[in-house]
Amino acid sequence: MLKPDYDFIVQKIREATNLSEEEINNKIQEKLEALKGLVSKTGAAHIVANELNVKLFDFSGKLQVKNIVIGMQDVEIAGKVVRVFPVREYSTPNRSGRVGSFIIADETGTIRVVAWDDKTQYLEKLKEGDLVLIKSGYVRDNKGVKEVHLGQRASIVINPENVSISKDVGKPLQKKISELKPGDLNVELLATIIQVFEPRFFEVCSVCGKRLKLVDGNYVCEAHGVVEPSYSYVLNAFLDDGENTIRCVFWREAVQKLLGRNDSEIQGLRQDPQGFEALKQELLGTIVKVTGRVVQNKTFDRLEFIANDVIKNPEPPSIQESSTQASKTETDM
Ligand SMILES: [Zn+2]
Repeated sequence: MLKPDYDFIVQKIREATNLSEEEINNKIQEKLEALKGLVSKTGAAHIVANELNVKLFDFSGKLQVKNIVIGMQDVEIAGKVVRVFPVREYSTPNRSGRVGSFIIADETGTIRVVAWDDKTQYLEKLKEGDLVLIKSGYVRDNKGVKEVHLGQRASIVINPENVSISKDVGKPLQKKISELKPGDLNVELLATIIQVFEPRFFEVCSVCGKRLKLVDGNYVCEAHGVVEPSYSYVLNAFLDDGENTIRCVFWREAVQKLLGRNDSEIQGLRQDPQGFEALKQELLGTIVKVTGRVVQNKTFDRLEFIANDVIKNPEPPSIQESSTQASKTETDM
């Protein structure tokens, strides 16, 4: 059953009536007082919505990303896959298994879908650009960001018939640094690299890719025990869009694209920090188009950009835009 929260109900009433937020809150407050302790605030909001004939969900229509609220059960939603993340093994004192995630988009937004245990099998078949119909998911809060989780009852239909989504869906949203919000999943920045830090290398499991812990001189994977370490890497840079700056984090594949070097060339830099200096000089002042997501760095109380993809020296967007506008004007005339 769908369980909308208070803000969602108020929003729905606003959309369906001419009432202001204050008027709606007053009506709900009156109802609460009239029913003295018999209903919760959300319950009172439900009753007011019913009395005003406001449908909270259009059950004939489809659920869209923008209408997803935390606590929903039995969620059925269709979307286009915009990114698939690798499946990882996890183990806690209570249980262990596999977890993986992917991001879907529809006309109204993007959301992460998290698959647990045997549901991770779906991820092996998913490709970016696939349409998916998710059934019986539930919505969870992950540090203030909504996620659809796939537990035991959930299923996915890949490229279902009768589901269509507009071509433009899933394209990253172009934003300025000042417009970024924590939880943004698929945004694009155009900015200049103004600072680059040396890549940091760290030990990962050669079997599952998870970070290793050093225990008594041995590198230990939570899932695979003592293993011979491989190395992965992360690189931080500062980007400037002319108005603001942001720290941008590049992981493995994104580092390769940024530096224009393959994995073994970058592994070589681990023993040769001097080799990086030339690459760094090349990058400073370079214009990049980065797509990725935005996270809140709690320690420093600032936003950071996690790059999934980077294009160096992209075509200037101003030229593309003005040519589109010119052709539009011609058509209009
Ligand atoms: Zn491992």
